[in-house]
Amino acid sequence: MSIATTNPATGQVLKTYDPMSAEQIDAAIGRADLAFRQLHGTTVDQRAGWMNAAADLLDVERDDIARIMTTEMGKTYASAKAEVTKCAKAARFYAAHAAGYLADEPADAAAVSATRAFIRYQPIGPVLAVMPWNFPLWQVMRFAAPALMAGNTGLLKHASNVPQTALLLEDVFRRAGFPDGAFTTLLVGSDAVEQILSDPRVRAATLTGSEGAGRSIAQIAGRELKKTVLELGGSDPFVVMPSADLDQAAEVATTARCQNNGQSCIAAKRFIVHTDVFDAFAEKFATHMAALRVGDPMDERTDVGPLASERGRDEVHAQVRDAIDNGGTVLVGGEVPDQDGWWYPPTVVTDLTPQMRMWREEVFGPVAGLFRVSSYDEAIEVANGTAFGLGSNAWTRDPDEQERFVTDLDAGNVFINGMTTSYPELPFGGVKNSGYGRELSALGMREFCNTKTVWVG
Ligand code: NDP
Repeated sequence: MSIATTNPATGQVLKTYDPMSAEQIDAAIGRADLAFRQLHGTTVDQRAGWMNAAADLLDVERDDIARIMTTEMGKTYASAKAEVTKCAKAARFYAAHAAGYLADEPADAAAVSATRAFIRYQPIGPVLAVMPWNFPLWQVMRFAAPALMAGNTGLLKHASNVPQTALLLEDVFRRAGFPDGAFTTLLVGSDAVEQILSDPRVRAATLTGSEGAGRSIAQIAGRELKKTVLELGGSDPFVVMPSADLDQAAEVATTARCQNNGQSCIAAKRFIVHTDVFDAFAEKFATHMAALRVGDPMDERTDVGPLASERGRDEVHAQVRDAIDNGGTVLVGGEVPDQDGWWYPPTVVTDLTPQMRMWREEVFGPVAGLFRVSSYDEAIEVANGTAFGLGSNAWTRDPDEQERFVTDLDAGNVFINGMTTSYPELPFGGVKNSGYGRELSALGMREFCNTKTVWVG
């Protein structure tokens, strides 16, 4: 895949980049290694000063940054601006909380015959971050803010379709005061990942992306005995039970499916509705989905812009066609508009069966699958009947049922009566083929720390 900015709204290639050579990659890793040693001599307060300065730059330059994001991957300008603001907030959050997250943790010294025993969290070195295009700033920031605050350095291999966003973030950290090499964008294709991850100076890797990329990176890291955190796809269930507030559920379902033009790992994708409220919910949901405005992502009134790539759009349509060909019913959407760019309308498909791709695969676009179930147990069976386990949503006003969903949903995140979202305050990650490890919160910061046991006699 070439490294280029291509506007998904028009299909026009705007800027291309030559990938870095093996020598340039080697030099960049050298700078990251040197910067790691420089960061060793800094205090958390010093790093917090730089991180807060990065947040200020993001706030001041928000509109320009957002315009680049929209141009590169098609998300609405309004959501791109919100993403930049979220990144600035996260940067400030880790600047404020790193000292607490990294503080020595006392242990019971007497129980281990010591005069003192405690845990110290220390950075491990340069970390490779392989990141996707869908939230081109946030996905990187949720790695970079905790990693840099811990004293690690970051090597970013961003998705090949968002090079300008990637370079811009490197520039923000540099201008904020971080030493040269603390955060470096490597303009490389995925074929360069093996060289980078095999380099002994690179200590770990984090990936947000597809299952295939996850398997490949985990294989290399396994051979090299390096830690990985993998945040892969999801096919999140959104369960609606009879006691749910149907109006609210249908409204949130629409946002949960179509935010970011439907390209979010934690988008609700499978809507599993109890038969007692199925028809009422389906009608409300289909009405909301049909009312979404599809169009120019720069227009503030637009709800859904184009998909990020032609390949992605074609894949989504192939999944919908497969459902239709095998007996699925389209309630809304389902047709590719005849115009330049990679558009796909908000779509709702029901009468799904296990033979269909939409039953078992993640759909990375604004397409909802609607499933009818007749009991709590059947809802759980369908919800958990996927290889993924990232986020999940359950809508019920019954406290006992809420408690059962929390326990029974096989996912890294459970949201009751709300939409799955990532917060700097809460850990984020999945189970099963959605990956392992956690980002965000103290847990995310410590994934790339040496948890050092200290025993003093
Ligand atoms: P990819 O996994 O292909 O891309 C994500 C990142 O991984 C990019 O930087 C990509 O680089 C890199 N990459 C791809 N293959 C490899 C590999 N074998 N070794 C190392 N790095 C690799 O995602 P796509 O953009 O192709 O999207 C396809 C699917 O991935 C989606 O349908 C969705 O299921 C999932 N996905 C999940 C996301 C999430 O947030 N969890 C985000 C995006 C996608 P390059 O761009 O150069 O290929």
